[in-house]
Amino acid sequence: MSELGSQSYYYPNKMGRIILLAMEEVLGRNGINAVLNTANLSHFINHYPPNNLDMKIVFGDLSRIMTALEDLYGPRGGRGLELRSGRACFKYGLREFGPLLGLTDAAFRLLPLNEKLRNGATIFAETFNRFTDQRVRVEENETQILWHIDRCPICWERSSTDTVCHLAVGILQEALTWVSGGRHFCVEETGCIARGDQSCTIVIDKQPLE
Ligand SMILES: [Zn+2]
Repeated sequence: MSELGSQSYYYPNKMGRIILLAMEEVLGRNGINAVLNTANLSHFINHYPPNNLDMKIVFGDLSRIMTALEDLYGPRGGRGLELRSGRACFKYGLREFGPLLGLTDAAFRLLPLNEKLRNGATIFAETFNRFTDQRVRVEENETQILWHIDRCPICWERSSTDTVCHLAVGILQEALTWVSGGRHFCVEETGCIARGDQSCTIVIDKQPLE
């Protein structure tokens, strides 16, 4: 893939590590190793990034991991595994970032659901904007929260006829389940930069299912 005109953007080591640990939990050790080999990232095998905030994980590595997953397991199988990996990412991420952000404070836990969703989305977006080169914008209407990823590592330099940022959807699904104390929400990616859209847009219904 051409490097021409493509500026490098980064995730911190800590988040790269979280993604690989989460994928290992879902795929098993052999699965993640196969994915890393296929993605030409075998230097990460048994050497996950260290647990620090140095900006060392290039966006292109993350999108190649997702592409490799779909190459190995097919688009449908890959999608399911990315959703599950995303859910696991949130668990690991919460452990690392939750206390720092106040998300685990009793005061936050006691807010009404609607405010928890609103505040949680804002805090979560700020986490990406502050600690990574990913850019997230949150919009809201009566019934939905719109999570716009304006610069997205998951589909970085990918091209597809479909939306492909399933890992991000999985992370938000688990975040919502956690924030709401176990409810489930309709979460859908309706726009994707890989498909030519302005941003990767994930739409969240504020009303939990059932
Ligand atoms: Zn994307």
